[in-house]
Amino acid sequence: MEHGTTRNFLYIMPKFIFVAGGVMSGIGKGVATAAIGKILQSKGFKVTAVKIDPYINVDAGTMNPVEHGEIFVTDDGIECDQDVGNYERFLDKNLTTENYITTGRVYQAVIQRERNLEYEGRCVEVVPDIPNEVISRISKVAKSTRADFVLIEIGGTVGEYQNLLFLEAARMMRLQKPKDILFILISYLPVPEMIGEMKTKPTQTAVRLLNEAGIQPDIILGRSSVPLDEPRKRKISIFCNVAPEDVISAPDIKSIYEISLNFEKENLGNQILKKFGLRLRKSNLKDWERLVSIIKKLEKPVHQAHNLYASVKIGIVGKYFETGGFTLMDSYISIIEAIKHATWFYKKRPEIFWLSAEKYEQEAGTVKELKKFDGIIVPGGFGSRGVEGKIKAIEFCRKNKIPYLGLCLGMQLAVVEFARNVCGLKMANSTEFSPNCQEPVIDVLPEQKALLHEKKYGGTMRLGAYLCEIKPKTLSFRAYSPLRVLLKTPQKPFYTSERHRHRYELNNEFREALEAKGMVMVGINPERNLVEIIELKNHPFFVGTQFHPEYKSRPLKPHPLFREFIRICLKNSRN
Ligand code: GLN
Repeated sequence: MEHGTTRNFLYIMPKFIFVAGGVMSGIGKGVATAAIGKILQSKGFKVTAVKIDPYINVDAGTMNPVEHGEIFVTDDGIECDQDVGNYERFLDKNLTTENYITTGRVYQAVIQRERNLEYEGRCVEVVPDIPNEVISRISKVAKSTRADFVLIEIGGTVGEYQNLLFLEAARMMRLQKPKDILFILISYLPVPEMIGEMKTKPTQTAVRLLNEAGIQPDIILGRSSVPLDEPRKRKISIFCNVAPEDVISAPDIKSIYEISLNFEKENLGNQILKKFGLRLRKSNLKDWERLVSIIKKLEKPVHQAHNLYASVKIGIVGKYFETGGFTLMDSYISIIEAIKHATWFYKKRPEIFWLSAEKYEQEAGTVKELKKFDGIIVPGGFGSRGVEGKIKAIEFCRKNKIPYLGLCLGMQLAVVEFARNVCGLKMANSTEFSPNCQEPVIDVLPEQKALLHEKKYGGTMRLGAYLCEIKPKTLSFRAYSPLRVLLKTPQKPFYTSERHRHRYELNNEFREALEAKGMVMVGINPERNLVEIIELKNHPFFVGTQFHPEYKSRPLKPHPLFREFIRICLKNSRN
């Protein structure tokens, strides 16, 4: 429970915690930041978090998911870094555009202000005007959210040219409010195989680099494959100028939801309060402890006798997971999390398989492998690569009654498949892939057409939360409606709001033709009369959503559609 407003009058809030990374990227800085937020929240504080991306891009919308990872979308329609998704999942909160800062946004604002003569004729300079803009943005978040703690994660690693101005902002903020600012460095400690010993030198170097920027970390989180032992903590303490109790061990773990619990074992929460001179408080992470204990139990060998720990096998037919010789799962992080949340709800173990759409195009018959799975998801995507393979996969799921969940592009392609193979509209397609197609069952809205024409791609899709009216007596209605609604007013439509990120829509001119053959338009956006959810009759679960339900799934509150999808997958499981 949060009671950010019931403050002890002696405490001056808000407090700001900057988190920077050392040695290398990809060591889980985002989830560590989210986990710290969770701990403070569990102590009864109101917490928010800000992600700083040191890119010139104004938002993440124009970035390739293979390069940057998933693009997350907030209710107010900002395309941002996946870490904002981590914050939302950990804090169980909807964040907004204020929680995301990029170099591009900062410069854009400063230049705009200069054009408006708001600097009153003086020379506008990189320092201090850029860091000042950063500080004002961070302060604005604190004000508008009335948070007790604002966590600010600075992207990249220390020593890079790119994030220097953000470190400068942090340094200037500390100068202005020395009692309200804390620095945490999350650094990596390798254990090279040929040496067999954990090495602290890269972390020492990272601290030096941070010192060069005028910052001394207050706490160091040591990320490594194994926990940090006492000699290592002592060494870091001496060489990096922090107390031994401020060196926190952050070993690899199986589930990210365990991180808060691990940090609490090292007393990180109260260590932070102590540094701010705040009265210590107990944390309450009981719900998370319960979740983590379920996750851990599920990892143990399958309990055949009671079928207690059986798994559910979900195949994802996509394309954003290959980079050179590596499989990259970051592009679909919210979907993976949503599957996990829903599966854990049923106390089952999720098994996720990456299936290449292009293979189904190139090698005839390979699509039959879909039979091995309990359910199939076709996620969102852009561009024509792999599209025909995805359509083949969808056709196979429809005909073989394999539970199917289509997300955004996955919904659009389900409509194309149905139009072609059931309604006999042989030329059916989306105008995204066939601009002059004769049967454009998926088409761009007129206002989107104008934007495309002017090459205005960034931040111009249908983005963010829109209302969806769900028809009674449908699979989706059953999934969404709380029991009391189902029992009391089973005939009334149910309203929900879901997040969007797309330019194309189901073309209303083809609605009748599709409905005549058994496709049901289950969810409709009432303001614009746009189709939001489709379902097929006579199928255990065939649902497509124009929106992205995965963005709103939380570990202790799985998304209704994912939950229902997994329930049917488990019911039909042939494993
Ligand atoms: N490319 C499709 C569109 O823009 C689908 C987008 C998505 O899947 N997010 O409408």
